[in-house]
Amino acid sequence: MNSTITDANKPDAQKTVISLQHWKDLFRDGYFSVNGGHNAHVENGRKFGEWLNGGEIRIFTYGAVNRETPARVRSGLEYMLRVFGIDELSIKFYGAHESIVPFVRSSINQGYLDSAKLISLLFQESYRDERIGGKQHADVVITDLLFMDDKFENITRACWGASEFRRGGMVLALPIVRQRAAGYIEHIARHETVHLLGYEMHCDTARNFNADVEDHPHDPECLMNWSVPSGNICEKDKEAVLSFWEGIRARGIDIRR
Ligand SMILES: [Zn+2]
Ligand SMILES: [Zn+2]
Repeated sequence: MNSTITDANKPDAQKTVISLQHWKDLFRDGYFSVNGGHNAHVENGRKFGEWLNGGEIRIFTYGAVNRETPARVRSGLEYMLRVFGIDELSIKFYGAHESIVPFVRSSINQGYLDSAKLISLLFQESYRDERIGGKQHADVVITDLLFMDDKFENITRACWGASEFRRGGMVLALPIVRQRAAGYIEHIARHETVHLLGYEMHCDTARNFNADVEDHPHDPECLMNWSVPSGNICEKDKEAVLSFWEGIRARGIDIRR
């Protein structure tokens, strides 16, 4: 392991340049799947990444969600699975199923959604417990709520989605005014799906670790930028996810080195 790229707080001037092969190796070995900094790989007896064992992604809606929105989200998920050639995961649409309601309600604080809390609750839910008839899966929850971070209405920080590979969760913050942007929602869904599939960072690698990938500069048009400027993923990020999945297929979900 090259320890020079693990220090996220180094100034840009000290940035390291790594080869594309080194970048791919890090992902194949599961290093960045957990953002490089996580020590735990189990939480309350549940193993990070174990949702993959069920081979299923479930889509739910909460609140006032129009018909077009879940179709676009599903389309974004399917698009990314095709791009990466992942056929181990199937998508099931549950819609406004009552089982999701208590989890979302418990994650609302002063009218705003705490996405980290919701993803944590879904990670521990009994619906994923095989011992009592459940089945492992990831959850995608489309809501008409805003995230707590957007409470102060600073538009430059407006956040439409949050996703995690480790706990297998995607949460979308789509109040009615945002649901009009169907094309952008599909791009958001693609972006969040890349996070869900193991890429828990953004294209601008300097935000997360101080290394650039040789001959693969940060692409400002890549969909993995925070602002989701397009529907296209750059080669660097695509290689990362492909390599991560190569590792999963070779050794299973044991994502921690
Ligand atoms: Zn990119
Ligand atoms: Zn993101």
